[in-house]
Amino acid sequence: MLDSAAKQQILDELAAEVRGCTRCPLHRTRTNAVPGEGDADADIMFIGEAPGYHEDQQGRPFVGAAGQLLDKLLGQIGLHRRDVFIANILKCRPPDNRDPAPEERAACSEYLDAQVATIQPRAICLLGRVPLQTLLDPTASITKLHGKPQEKDGILWVPLFHPAAALHRADYMPQLVEDVRNLKHILDSRLT
Ligand code: URA
Repeated sequence: MLDSAAKQQILDELAAEVRGCTRCPLHRTRTNAVPGEGDADADIMFIGEAPGYHEDQQGRPFVGAAGQLLDKLLGQIGLHRRDVFIANILKCRPPDNRDPAPEERAACSEYLDAQVATIQPRAICLLGRVPLQTLLDPTASITKLHGKPQEKDGILWVPLFHPAAALHRADYMPQLVEDVRNLKHILDSRLT
């Protein structure tokens, strides 16, 4: 079992690798790669789809409008982004925010796998369809599975609507708020 300083060192090395990565064509159009950030010893990870405009500009995950909503939702259950680890399926922004291509996901997956293996979180929140289908089940529907925890490989996987989707679809927002509220109960009962 690694202590948190050892985990941090591995995450820092991975982040440096990500920043220099040329494994897929997205490195040519990125401003900054976005390795992810947070507590190296976090119990909970949040995984999104890919950096957007603001993330690409700043090299940090979830710093635009969706990120502000994520911060607010975390705050509602007594968490701050420094208490969790936030990452994405892709570390570089796809042009025009299109869906990550299968070959991009394949090229990038080793980084996220290594982050998960290092942090060893007890729960992973999957923000939207892309991380749900990439990490849990390629045929899964986020509208059916949101808020329903799934156990796999000793980890509790919790699909949630993507905060950006909730900002665009008024009917998703109350469901996301409700799912995050339930997340607190799930974490309190299953992770203690
Ligand atoms: N949307 C994502 O999926 N990830 C980010 O980092 C920002 C917006």
